Amino acid sequence: MPFGRRKDLTRKASFGKSPGPRPWRLSAKLLVASTIATVIGFSAICASVMFDMRRGEEELARQTLENLASGIDADISRNIEVYDLSLRNVASNLVMPAIRNVSKEIRHLILFDHAATAKHFGAIQVFDAEGRLTIDAASLDPVAENRSGEEYFQVHRDNPDAGLYMSRPMLHRGAFSIVLSRRITDHDGSFLGVVVGSIRFSYFHGLFARLTLDPGDTITVLRRDRTIIMRTPFDLDIIGKSLAERKNWSADNLKQGSAYAGVGPVDPTPRLYVRSGSTNLFFVVVGKPLSTVLKFWHREVIRIGAIMLVLILFVVGTALFLAREIGRRAEAEERLEELATTDALTGLRNRRKFDHAIDAEWRRAARNNTPVAVLMIDADHFKAYNDRYGHQAGDQVLVGIAICISDSVRRAGDCAARYGGEEFAVLLPGLTAVEAFSIAETIRLKVEHWSEHPDVTTVSIGVASLTPAAPMDWPELIEAADKALYAAKNNGRNQSVLAAVSQLALVA
Ligand code: GH3
Ligand code: MG
Ligand code: MG
Repeated sequence: MPFGRRKDLTRKASFGKSPGPRPWRLSAKLLVASTIATVIGFSAICASVMFDMRRGEEELARQTLENLASGIDADISRNIEVYDLSLRNVASNLVMPAIRNVSKEIRHLILFDHAATAKHFGAIQVFDAEGRLTIDAASLDPVAENRSGEEYFQVHRDNPDAGLYMSRPMLHRGAFSIVLSRRITDHDGSFLGVVVGSIRFSYFHGLFARLTLDPGDTITVLRRDRTIIMRTPFDLDIIGKSLAERKNWSADNLKQGSAYAGVGPVDPTPRLYVRSGSTNLFFVVVGKPLSTVLKFWHREVIRIGAIMLVLILFVVGTALFLAREIGRRAEAEERLEELATTDALTGLRNRRKFDHAIDAEWRRAARNNTPVAVLMIDADHFKAYNDRYGHQAGDQVLVGIAICISDSVRRAGDCAARYGGEEFAVLLPGLTAVEAFSIAETIRLKVEHWSEHPDVTTVSIGVASLTPAAPMDWPELIEAADKALYAAKNNGRNQSVLAAVSQLALVA
């Protein structure tokens, strides 16, 4: 009856697999972490460059709009100035006593120069203190008219220091115009009436038409009190409206000479608005949609963003692939090492591994001044067993003995190995001779109880424990255990024998 039916001998002894972090995992993680850090770093640099670029685009647009605003401002100012000279001329000449005595024709020649007859300028008119039309540059015999109800008339009548007054946009003599007026004051300071002229909207249309504007660009001319005088794109509904009445718009949004990015008071398109630095009767605000300002920038963001995304995906993909390959390779190496150090039949460590282990533990014990114990285990009468039951059954017994050994030796640092043939060796670092002897007995009894025929297969064990001291080396410890094993064999087998102190001393 072959030996070992009670236990599942297909199981192999497992021994000495140390848990804990594997070095390959660290390097794969390091690779992934450094890749992520690099990607974040490059993305941050890229984002910072893109934001700088955006600021640059906005600054460039702001300068362009500023130049446009001041150009328009200058053109309107110059025309108003020229026109105002004519108004002043009329206001000052009218109060000269001599002018009352000349004919209408001569008076016309004296009062109205050619500047006031320029295109887009309405004819100059003079109204007396009651608002009645008295002189009209367009006609020697003007039709009766009364403007005493007009705002500009009342402003001059009630305020001697109004200077040049710019009206709200209005229908003046059949055309949408801005009325410019000055008070006529007598030498004694009394109110004699107003001199009135107008600038037609056609002037603004002509001015804006000469400019090259992008779709969505706006130019707004406002009176100082924020009344819209003119705007392109033209919308009659908002002409004459005051921004001061807009709830969502505050004067702080666009101070003199400043820029503002956001939604304006007229339409919901977000724009970059720039206001001219004029301190005159009016100011000019030009706006460009942010989408136009940032068109080039948006294109670059998409282009560079797409390139970055592809690069990031490529780098991350490559890193993940490499990390997986590192992992696979390390696992394969681990398996190979496992195979190279494991005995194929029993699953215990092989002799090569045992020699490495005892070498390392011996040196550690020498440093720490601690003992190292070794058990040499040999199957008794194994040749006879083989002869009786066959080699296969003998192999099963060897597996069984290996299981009994590995079940009894479980501490980290312990190493149980098949030393050769039917011989096993166990390394027990830190154990004294007595402690090692006790483990040897545990193994021996386990083997004895495991077999159905204890008289057939038992083991003899030689036990030795030494605290390393120069010039001893670990082969001497093995030799001592071997000698103790022979002693066990000679004493009748199935027993553990502790190497005698004198033996060790002899060896040492
Ligand atoms: P002793 O009690 O003195 O140790 O007697 P023994 O018969 O066990 O010793 P000996 O050295 O004379 O015989 C060892 C035998 O072990 C010889 C060989 O057939 C057997 N053996 C060695 N390796 C293996 C193996 O891998 N499988 C099997 N089945 N038998 C083996
Ligand atoms: Mg032997
Ligand atoms: Mg033997």
